[in-house]
Amino acid sequence: MAQEKTQTELLKEKLFMQHPNAAATLSKEEIAKADAFCDGYMAFLNEAKIEREAVQYMVKKAESLGYVPFDRDKKYEAGAKIYFNNRGKSIVLAVIGKKALSEGVRLSAAHIDSPRLDLKPSPLYESSELALFKTHYYGGIKKYQWTTVPMALHGAVVKKNGEVIRVNIGEDENDPQFVVTDLLPHLGQEQMKRTLADGVRGEELNLLVGSRPFSDDEAGEQVKLNILNILYEKYDMTEADFLSAELEAVPAAKARDIGFDRSMIGAYGHDDKVCAYPAAEAIFATENPEYTCITCLTDKEEIGSDGNTGLNSSYLRFFIADLAKANGENYHTVLRNTKCLSADVNAAFDPTFPEVTEKTNAAYLNKGVTITKYTGSRGKSGTSDASAEFMAEIRSLLDENEVTWQCAELGAVDAGGGGTVAMYLAALDIDVVDLGVPVLSMHAPFEVVSKLDVYMAYRAFKAFFER
Ligand code: MN
Ligand code: MN
Repeated sequence: MAQEKTQTELLKEKLFMQHPNAAATLSKEEIAKADAFCDGYMAFLNEAKIEREAVQYMVKKAESLGYVPFDRDKKYEAGAKIYFNNRGKSIVLAVIGKKALSEGVRLSAAHIDSPRLDLKPSPLYESSELALFKTHYYGGIKKYQWTTVPMALHGAVVKKNGEVIRVNIGEDENDPQFVVTDLLPHLGQEQMKRTLADGVRGEELNLLVGSRPFSDDEAGEQVKLNILNILYEKYDMTEADFLSAELEAVPAAKARDIGFDRSMIGAYGHDDKVCAYPAAEAIFATENPEYTCITCLTDKEEIGSDGNTGLNSSYLRFFIADLAKANGENYHTVLRNTKCLSADVNAAFDPTFPEVTEKTNAAYLNKGVTITKYTGSRGKSGTSDASAEFMAEIRSLLDENEVTWQCAELGAVDAGGGGTVAMYLAALDIDVVDLGVPVLSMHAPFEVVSKLDVYMAYRAFKAFFER
């Protein structure tokens, strides 16, 4: 017979905030569901390393589920499934609800771009009979982490006639890969006196792409010529075509189980595909909702959301405005009544570097999806600070649906900081809070998340859409 709880234990249970470790409290069945969900997530990671590939993946999946391209002039009936592909780099997925649009939309927004090394507009050069690509890093990276890591090249080359050539090289077993070289320690003594931030500089992130000359005659730049000849034969492109290309060097590693217990996933680009995938799966599982539900998968978050495929542009607002117009409704009212989960990652507590977090307000692996009331830096600058009213609504939603969740800040006060798309959604007069998955080694070529947290993100978005 179990011992009766003491008065102290009972009072603690009643008054203390409970943030259980999902790995200890969930049933075997629920853990198996989480693992199975993550199999799908890992396949997505391997297929969609960059925003264009993520949009392609989503369009294909949406169409297979009966989603149709958005027609701005059409009035959609309840239950209709539509998508809006914004320039191949961001996508809006929507299921029309039974209630009037003016009662608001249930919106989740995640980003599908991740930190990486972009090729410069004129990238190819030869030096000492080696061919290299000049890169310009995209997003916030610790540059030294990106050397001596096998890299793949993804993206598109658009020729003058408008023809789009897709590039994906370095992922197939038989493909070549690329690498940024670094100094050997024997000759790195001066380099190692540099600060860590300066250890490898932006102009030192040069991608090695070739070493054999085209021929043995005396003409210069034969190695470069050989590379251009290979690119011409494979992609029918010339050096000038790089000017109208978006080529992104990303880590070539595949998503893998991490740990003897296989409880975690190591991969490139968890930030923010680890929220984008669950938010998309949640809307794909939504049929005939009460409110109109939208998942927006956006681009450009890692460089500040600027650009017409980022959420600091008007594409989402215009999408909602056109939906409202077709229904004869005022879109200002729709936005004002809209509620949004800004789905982005938070930093997971790392026992090796405890000093940058404040333990009471940190996110922990396996403690579930993380609510982040505000991000920003230096006294809550550059963020949307979610209201107490909206926080109450969301924690009640998660509790009612038995979603394991936790609440965290992004690091200790003045330890640094960062932002998400939440502030751009708040700027539209939408109620918004950040909710996402904690990540170890965020923005590194290989990031780590917990499988249970990924699954809890899915459960959270699903409950939000079903409300
Ligand atoms: Mn992010
Ligand atoms: Mn990020």
